[in-house]
Amino acid sequence: MVRFARCNSLLSLALDASGKGCRYVAKGDDDDAVVKDMSEHLTSVHQVDPGIMKFNILASTRTHNS
Ligand SMILES: [Zn+2]
Repeated sequence: MVRFARCNSLLSLALDASGKGCRYVAKGDDDDAVVKDMSEHLTSVHQVDPGIMKFNILASTRTHNS
């Protein structure tokens, strides 16, 4: 089972490094892995402190239906 969260559901106006709407999707086997993946993305691409985003990430994490 794969868990995932979309960057643009966390940061509604998130832009990626090239200035387009960010379509990054963090994936992992469980919530902790998704939070870790997304936290690294938020830090490196958006310069957002992931510490304040953890609950937002968890709230928007979904299970992939496939
Ligand atoms: Zn992003």
